[in-house]
Amino acid sequence: MKRMEEKILRDGKVLPGGILKVGNFLNQQIDTRFLAQMGQEIARLFGGDGVSKVLTIEASGIAIAAAAGMALDVPMVFAKKHKTSNVDGAVYSATVHSFTHNTDYQIVVSRDYLCPGDRVLLVDDFLANGHALRGLMELLRQAGAELVGVTAAIEKGFQGGGDSLRAQGIRVESLAIIDRMDENGIVFRH
Ligand code: 5GP
Repeated sequence: MKRMEEKILRDGKVLPGGILKVGNFLNQQIDTRFLAQMGQEIARLFGGDGVSKVLTIEASGIAIAAAAGMALDVPMVFAKKHKTSNVDGAVYSATVHSFTHNTDYQIVVSRDYLCPGDRVLLVDDFLANGHALRGLMELLRQAGAELVGVTAAIEKGFQGGGDSLRAQGIRVESLAIIDRMDENGIVFRH
């Protein structure tokens, strides 16, 4: 998505450790008009695939996942982050390693909101090593729901998570893929 690349170049800040800050339009302040365009683009990519639900993780995935859900006209569900694991069996849960915080955390979603027969599109703001999306895939497995594909606003291709999902045959459509970034600039994959 050309506009995503332009926004990253104009407003993104490359931090040490391979972190890109996009608080100006996606992660803290949200460019709402652009958010709606992201949703439309995701609907263009996955609109013909019978998606019945969009799934993400709180908090930074919620905005783009909601935009995707609106454009696809399906519900959006977000997994919650918990410190403790599933105790009463009312939820599906998985462990995710956080790239940005270098810790593990649990994600949980109520059994009420993911069902066998659901055709689910996974959405997140960033795809780096792929741990967050793999955690969501584990929730789908527990629920018996079907994975339609994966989309991220920004994929950091140099971390390999997206390509390893593609190598498994999963459809991954990121709105922009960064192949290289450092203090000298950002290079996109085309
Ligand atoms: P992964 O699990 O694919 O390694 O990392 C994805 C998650 O880490 C995303 O949900 C996102 O919140 C966070 N993340 C990874 N890399 C970045 C980054 O460069 N910038 C920001 N803002 N978040 C990131």
